[in-house]
Amino acid sequence: MSLNVNIRHVEEHEIHLKGEMPVAELDFGVQDEMIRLEKPLRYDLKIDQLHDSLLVTGSLKLVLDCECVRCLKPFTYKLELTGWALHLPLEGEDKVSILNDCIDLTPFVREDMLIEFPQHPLCKPECAGLKKKPGVEKAGAEEKPPSPWTELDKLKL
Ligand SMILES: [Zn+2]
Repeated sequence: MSLNVNIRHVEEHEIHLKGEMPVAELDFGVQDEMIRLEKPLRYDLKIDQLHDSLLVTGSLKLVLDCECVRCLKPFTYKLELTGWALHLPLEGEDKVSILNDCIDLTPFVREDMLIEFPQHPLCKPECAGLKKKPGVEKAGAEEKPPSPWTELDKLKL
C-alpha cells in the first residue's frame, strides 16, 4: 500500500485522497530512540491537474510518541503539515516518475515530514530537566548531615 495518484483520474477532475497510512509504509528510518513511530499517518490531499503538472495540496498529520531528552517524560508530539503543497511536473527535466499511470507520493511525503521531526524532543520548550526529589530542592542541601547513627558507628570502631 502506498500513496498513489492515478494521473488518468486527475485528467478528468480533481481528486481527493483522504485516509490513513501505516507509518511503517513511510519507512522514516528514524534512529532517535527518543522518538517512537506507531500511529498511522493521516492525510487529506487534493490533487489538481495544471497545464503540464500536478499540484498536490492538503494536510499531513502524524503523532509521534516521544520521550523528553531532559526529563525523560513521555509525551506526544503532533507533527502537522497543514498547508502542504507539492508540485509534480509531468514534463521536462524534473519530470516525476510515473509507473502504470500512477505517481507514488510516498517519497515526497517522507522527505517533507522528516524535515519537521524534532531534533531533540522536549516535553515543553522550557523544560528544566529532571526534578529533584522533594526535600532536597534547596541548593547545597543535597549533602545530608551525618546521621547520629553513623557517628555512633565511628565510635564503635
Ligand atoms: Zn521535559
